[in-house]
Amino acid sequence: MAYDPNNIFARILRGEIPNKTVYEDEHALAFHDINPQTPTHVLVIPKGAYVSFADFSAKASDAEIVGFVRAVGKVARDLGAEEPGYRILANNGADARQEVPHLHVHVFAGTDLGRMIK
Ligand code: 5GP
Repeated sequence: MAYDPNNIFARILRGEIPNKTVYEDEHALAFHDINPQTPTHVLVIPKGAYVSFADFSAKASDAEIVGFVRAVGKVARDLGAEEPGYRILANNGADARQEVPHLHVHVFAGTDLGRMIK
């Protein structure tokens, strides 16, 4: 899948669409999902233009990768989700029903998550 610079998350990164930010640094932005599936549902995205996890892991610098992973972990901690727990998930490509073609990690928390997958 080619990167579309006008995808909704690219537009959020450019400040063209508002978001409820929970964390931001030079490598990542985290914000509440507009259609939460759990009481806490946050999306974490890298600031670079990457479609999928495979695209990101192949093209991003080590600093971007480390920064993004640290941001996901920091968001989970800052949400107070370390206990009793949280789930992280990334949909990649058509079979995973990825809706937005900019890599994003879902952080689900705030309830017993069962075996739900999104
Ligand atoms: P995907 O299915 O691609 O893994 O997830 C895309 C997520 O982006 C969905 O959970 C959807 O609710 C969320 N989303 C789509 N458009 C917007 C938006 O404009 N703002 C926010 N905050 N979330 C969005």
